[in-house]
This record gives sequence, C-alpha cells and structure tokens, in this order.
Amino acid sequence: MPDPFARRRRRLAETVRGQGVSDPRVLQAVADVPRHRFVPGAVLRRAYEDAALPIGFGQTISQPSIQALYLQVLEIGAGDRVLEVGTGSGYQTALLAALSANVYSVERIPQLAVRARQALDELGHRNVALLTGDGTVGWSRYAPYDAILVAAAAPDVPHALVDQLAPGGRLLIPLGDQHTQTLTLVRRTAEGVTEREPVIACVFVPLIGRFGWPE
Ligand code: SAM
Repeated sequence: MPDPFARRRRRLAETVRGQGVSDPRVLQAVADVPRHRFVPGAVLRRAYEDAALPIGFGQTISQPSIQALYLQVLEIGAGDRVLEVGTGSGYQTALLAALSANVYSVERIPQLAVRARQALDELGHRNVALLTGDGTVGWSRYAPYDAILVAAAAPDVPHALVDQLAPGGRLLIPLGDQHTQTLTLVRRTAEGVTEREPVIACVFVPLIGRFGWPE
C-alpha cells in the first residue's frame, strides 16, 4: 500500500537540505523514517513541519533540521555504536538506528520510554536498546561508544559520558544555561585528550540528573 506520508517526508528532507545539511545518508534517513509514528495524535498533522513539537510531560520532539545536523556533525558511520541521552519520542533514535550498527538510548521519563519502545518495535528496529534512567551517567554496560548524542541542555559536559567515549569518539551536547545554549562538539583523541568546538546556538529542554541540572 502506498505510504500517504512519503511525499511529505521527501519534502521535509528537502527543507533539511535547505537548512545546510548535505550528508546524503542523513537526508535519506529523514526521507525514510516516518516521523508521524513518533508524535502524539494532537500534533499529527504537523508531523512533517521543520518544527519542535510537544510530546507530553513538558518535553518536545526536536526540530528535524537540528536533529539531522546532529547526525551530520557526529559523522555517524554504518559500523558505529552510539549512545543517545534523551530518547524522547524515539524519532532521533530511529534515525540513528538507520545510520549506525547499534543504538543505546536512555530516557529519564518512563512513560516516554515505553511509548518510544512501542514505536521502534512497530517499525522493526532490532538494533536499539532502551534504558529508563539518568543518562548523565551514561550506560557503562555497552561502553565505549563511537558517538554520543545528548538531546538535552547541560551546564557542562558530564565527565561520565567523556569516560565512555572510544578513542576518536565524538560527543555532541548543548551547553549553557536553561534558556540558550551552544551545541558543542567534544572529540576524544586517540591519546585520550578532549577537544571542544562550538557548532551553533540552540535552545533545548534541560538535562536533569546527577551530572546535569537538579530536578
Ligand atoms: N531526540 C528526541 C526525539 O527525537 O523525540 C527529543 C529529546 S527531548 C528534546 C529531550 C529528552 O531528554 C526528554 O525526553 C527528557 O525527558 C530527556 N532527558 C532529560 N534529562 C535526562 C537524563 N538525565 N537522562 C535521560 N533523559 C533525559
């Protein structure tokens, strides 16, 4: 049966390209992953807008062009093991699942984790493991990771996440106060040194946890 959303997805991928994302693998993932399966019914008709949308519990599914930028900057490769902090709706998790070998994703709000699990299972993603808990401490069981994506804003880089990066690994995280942040790329060199590089100004919900903001 033809997918009635396929055209809107292709148009979204074009919009994302217009916002400066040029990696063909990332654009293909945006054109393939059905974002409408990850948004609540109340905002279903807006699923393919390049906009952040509410997903309940005071949280949002992020703007697709920013999510795609994350994937491009992190240079997610087909063989990568990726840790995601802040599963939210599970949409970014699905994009990661399409681009990498294994995705490990942590969400602190149990109801969101349950919903994301259901959507990811329905779409047949078998390379995703989800954990409900505080992602600021990472997920040591499956470390080290080639890439770590933090989808919420922190006052500083949680050291536990840097510790779980493989040599040559990349971590992308919004750093700043609770109103505005700078998306910041952290690289761990082969010698174990970390380097930071600002990417773009952004606004994210807070990362709440032991190495983030207090509850
Ligand atoms: N990328 C997600 C998507 O595609 O829907 C959106 C993520 S949303 C902007 C940020 C998420 O981070 C929220 O679901 C929030 O509950 C979660 N979060 C905040 N602090 C967290 C923590 N310490 N550990 C895990 N998740 C956390």
